[in-house]
Amino acid sequence: MESKKKLSEKNRRDRIIAEARRRREQDYREQALKIFPWVCARCGREFSGKRLRELTVHHKDHNHNNNPPDGSNWELLCLYCHDNEHSRYLDQEWYEDETPSGEEETPSKYKPFADLDSLLKDKE
Ligand SMILES: [Zn+2]
Ligand SMILES: [Zn+2]
Repeated sequence: MESKKKLSEKNRRDRIIAEARRRREQDYREQALKIFPWVCARCGREFSGKRLRELTVHHKDHNHNNNPPDGSNWELLCLYCHDNEHSRYLDQEWYEDETPSGEEETPSKYKPFADLDSLLKDKE
């Protein structure tokens, strides 16, 4: 079947792309950790050993694909500060925006009308 073949090829390509992204992510993280001191650029907390996982690489222009080797687009931020940084802009970088196409991502936390129902019920 022609269409089936296409589909599995697409899946395969998606997997390869996802894998390449993961690798690239590790790459720039490693690079950034080489260039910068292991300190959160916002709150100044220091990280080492296992806790280094909590130190993340932020892209100043919020573009994941902009990874100059001199680190000029990177900033090391702890998870909290990174979260803060992104809640100001509401962009997609920090959140998983790499869902393979065809798979709907359901935002589980974001329920703008979750309270509305109960509010309306109270009025009844
Ligand atoms: Zn911080
Ligand atoms: Zn970021």
